[in-house]
Amino acid sequence: MMVLTKKMIEIRSILQTVGQSSALTLPSIVVIGSQSSGKSSVLEAIVGHEFLPKGSNMVTRRPIELTLVNTPDAQAEYGEFPALGLGKITDFSSIQRTLTELNLAVPDSECVTDDPIQLTISSPHVPDLTLIDLPGYIQVVGHDQPLELKQKISDLCDKYIQPPNVILAISAADVDLANSTALRASRRVDPRGERTIGVVTKMDLVDAPRGASILNDKKYPLRLGYVGVVSRVPPQTTGLFKKGSGSISAAISKNENAFFSAHPIEYGPEAGLSVGTTTLRKKLMHVLEQTMAASLQSTSDAIKQELEEATYEFKVQYNDRPLSAESYLAESLDAFKHSFKEFTEHFGRPQVREMLKEELDQRVLDLLAARYWNKPVPDLSPAPPEPDSLADLPNADPESLYWHRKLDASTSALTKLGVGRVATSVVANAIQAHIDRLIAQSTFASHPFARQAITEAASGILNERYYSTSDQVENCIKPYKFEIDMEDGEWSKGRENVAGVLKNELQACEAAVKNVEDTVGGRRKLRDVMTFVDRARKGDVVVEGDGASGAGGFSSALLQKGREAVFLRDRASILRMRLAALKSKQCASMKNKYYCPEIFLDVVATKLTSTAVLFLNVELLSEFNYNFPRELDIRLGRGLGKDEVERFAREDPKIKAHLEVIRRKELLELVLSKMEGLRALEVEGKSRRPSL
Ligand code: GDP
Repeated sequence: MMVLTKKMIEIRSILQTVGQSSALTLPSIVVIGSQSSGKSSVLEAIVGHEFLPKGSNMVTRRPIELTLVNTPDAQAEYGEFPALGLGKITDFSSIQRTLTELNLAVPDSECVTDDPIQLTISSPHVPDLTLIDLPGYIQVVGHDQPLELKQKISDLCDKYIQPPNVILAISAADVDLANSTALRASRRVDPRGERTIGVVTKMDLVDAPRGASILNDKKYPLRLGYVGVVSRVPPQTTGLFKKGSGSISAAISKNENAFFSAHPIEYGPEAGLSVGTTTLRKKLMHVLEQTMAASLQSTSDAIKQELEEATYEFKVQYNDRPLSAESYLAESLDAFKHSFKEFTEHFGRPQVREMLKEELDQRVLDLLAARYWNKPVPDLSPAPPEPDSLADLPNADPESLYWHRKLDASTSALTKLGVGRVATSVVANAIQAHIDRLIAQSTFASHPFARQAITEAASGILNERYYSTSDQVENCIKPYKFEIDMEDGEWSKGRENVAGVLKNELQACEAAVKNVEDTVGGRRKLRDVMTFVDRARKGDVVVEGDGASGAGGFSSALLQKGREAVFLRDRASILRMRLAALKSKQCASMKNKYYCPEIFLDVVATKLTSTAVLFLNVELLSEFNYNFPRELDIRLGRGLGKDEVERFAREDPKIKAHLEVIRRKELLELVLSKMEGLRALEVEGKSRRPSL
């Protein structure tokens, strides 16, 4: 039983998944021969199918690492290209096409490369073998081929025919063995002929006595001997079968048997020569099995060494810390949910109220500026008269319809500005921003996939809730659009509050002036240009045109800054004036609401805020807090497949390296234990194994 080769092939495919280092290369049979020596025919005869690229234009340009897997209990025969992930290919002409494409992808200018193609063929009719097919040696370089091609092919073959590989040297019977490039190459690396099998093809092309003398060769003695074959598919067969699809084994062996049995004296059992593809197959199996056995120890040692390195790396770099993609994701998700929980504890009604009130405060300021503090924005034209300037406000007649309407219109502008939409947006944006911050602070920061999943989870919920929340809020503040009830307590609170808002605004104005000062290059310069702007407004100086190209010796950019500063200064002086008014006795009582629109609007804003907050809390915040962790579970927890979890974890290079060391270590441990088992088996079976 050829158990060893089979097991070793399994081991080799495990090693390939951990990025096999050259130290771990297990022995293969390397097939070399000149072009047209019949190399492909021999390989196809072994496999029983036509599957290799055919054609005159250098069709083998890359090594083909061919793994044959015997599947005794299966019917199907199929090939797989593990690197391509095409799945099982049962049509051998399709394998042939793929191989041709892969080879011809190497440009003519390079002609050959040492990047191997891996192909596994599984069938109940193939032996367990690993064969490497190499580009054929050439005698003459074609006119469209690189000059150094001969050398390149030879170098490539030399790379593969090193120990512990077995060399299958193909020579054609109709060419003098002394001229066989394959045998010469083998001699260079295996001078005593210990690991070379000679295959002599096209035995049908020489007469039997000559054929027999070739196989008996004494000039190039090989310990593993020569095998003579006739591996061409008989011409009449190819017509019968659809080319490349059916098995060619029967046709070849029938043809071969007929030929060799026609010459019983030379090739019969008495002659003691090795002939026929079946004999060759058996020989290959035995030789590979023995070579595998011989390399068990060194391969084991190499794996042990690799394992020690992996173990050391795991200890030193990762402190022996266990990790799996699943555990990493689960921990990251838990930590994230925990941080979200913490966030929800600090982001409730009081915070929403504060945010919303701030937003409405700004809207109130805008309204006041537009309706009460509306000094014309300074430009360079003389100022128009100011009919309802602020100066008149303290004298507003409480009975005057004008001031009534003004306050009513302002209040209605505030209640009808779309509080539902504004409030919902403010809160939704704040939540989304907080989630972004939580992501940035979490392990997910370095995972684009997770970042996107979380962001989408949040925006999905927020978008879904947006319209209903906004409608609900809008509905609930509806009464304020018609009537505002106000109590004394509310008035005095509003008075206090709006004073704070105005003070902040005043500070902001002052800071902005300072900022303009800095950008124009000093207080003095700014004062000069402001003086000019003021004079222009009063009509003291005349500015030609629109002043866009500059005036009074100031550039237009500087004038622009001057206008800005004048505006800010005026705004600041209004704010100071209004702050004084708020402090005055007049504003102490609700009776004088027409004098103090700031307070009145502030109270309205507070009422709107309180009502909105109730519904925002129920409709948006609570819903979000409930659904978000569940959505995370769906998108990043149980909703993910194994591959996705793996891909996720590997997005972080540090985690990827960590996981790889562990996987490498585990696989090497697995392989080593298999190897130890094999060695025990080997020691036991040694006495029973017949040697070749
Ligand atoms: P490669 O270039 O070394 O792969 O050679 P091929 O396997 O393509 O064979 C080259 C040519 O020799 C083809 O036309 C084959 O049909 C022919 N050939 C291969 N083996 C035999 C054989 O045993 N006997 C005869 N007569 N022709 C063969």
